[in-house]
Amino acid sequence: MRVQAAKIHWVVTLIRRNRTLFFALGFLVLGTHLVYLQAGPLMWALLALQLLVYPQLAYWRSARAADPLRTEMQHLLVDGLLLGIWMGVWGLPLWISFMFFVGTCLNVMIFMGMAGLWKGVAAIAAGVAGAAAFNGLAFRPHTELHTSLLCIALLTGYLLIFARDAYRRGVSLRESRRQLGERLDEITRLQSQLQDQAQRDPLTGLHNRRFLDEALERELAACAAAGLPLALVLIDIDRFKRINDTYGHPAGDEMIRRLAELLRERVRDEGLIACRYGGEEFLLMLPATPLHDAAALAEELRATFESLRVESGGQMMRTTLSIGVAGFPEHGARAPMLVLRADHALYAAKLGGRNQVVRADALPGNAPPVPAAAT
Ligand code: GH3
Ligand code: MG
Ligand code: MG
Repeated sequence: MRVQAAKIHWVVTLIRRNRTLFFALGFLVLGTHLVYLQAGPLMWALLALQLLVYPQLAYWRSARAADPLRTEMQHLLVDGLLLGIWMGVWGLPLWISFMFFVGTCLNVMIFMGMAGLWKGVAAIAAGVAGAAAFNGLAFRPHTELHTSLLCIALLTGYLLIFARDAYRRGVSLRESRRQLGERLDEITRLQSQLQDQAQRDPLTGLHNRRFLDEALERELAACAAAGLPLALVLIDIDRFKRINDTYGHPAGDEMIRRLAELLRERVRDEGLIACRYGGEEFLLMLPATPLHDAAALAEELRATFESLRVESGGQMMRTTLSIGVAGFPEHGARAPMLVLRADHALYAAKLGGRNQVVRADALPGNAPPVPAAAT
């Protein structure tokens, strides 16, 4: 079975590189000790087997394992055991033992933490004890100067490579974190964009009724708490159906957009909230505004719109607005009641002949208007 490189855990690949490189260099370093020991061919062969062949076998096994990382952690302990055996066989030569001990501890500590360290030390001790049990333990700490120097150089190289890898991983971790941060910012931005879109009417870009219903409750509570008034201005385009019928639906859309633009300008200037309340109905919410001022603004909007000529497809259109105005606290303390009173006033404006502003308190007895046909 061919093992795909992409599936192999990066720790397995990294350890293979380190083990292959440093065991091969270690073979040269330890070879000088074997020369000093005047070792026979069996020891040379065994050392070559462990330092040159074993790293590839270990990788081969890890790469095919169901859990390569776990298998590789086992190999780190096998490393400790085998190096411990060599330490025991050679009588604990000081520099070689130091190099084996530090190298093994470093590996197990980095990949397995404190628990790994104790296991690694135990594996080395087991190796030394095993060799001693088999062969007896003679303490021969001496190594030739060139062997000692090579051990120092090899260990230094190993530490530097480890440090370089750690540095690279730190850099790439920071980069990943930065990219993640950017993505999070983007997600947050898109989320708030989505939230905003859900609260806006696509044709005009004004807030929709859902937004206003929530905002109205909130602003009413704030105004009530601060002892401030609040006014609602409900606007309906007069005889809009006729616009659609005469000039076509897109022309009707254009007229809706122009009215929305007019309202948006006022919103920008005075910090009001404008929304498209229904088809050709709009609602302005004016926090901290007395009824009188709201009615004056409504009148100004009515007059402006009356003089407006809207162009669509080469045709000029005009129509008027009917507007109902209601205010807190005069006409109610709750949002639904205030909207209802503004609606009654708007209805009265329609009944009164359209193109006019009616305040809710102008209705007789503040009651809903009665259609002329019913009187
Ligand atoms: P009134 O003066 O009594 O308000 O009469 P009106 O014709 O304006 O009122 P009516 O409720 O009879 O008609 C409103 C029309 O608005 C009906 C509907 O087709 C149209 N309308 C609703 N939404 C849109 C829209 O987004 N675009 C267009 N072009 N027309 C719309
Ligand atoms: Mg209407
Ligand atoms: Mg209308």
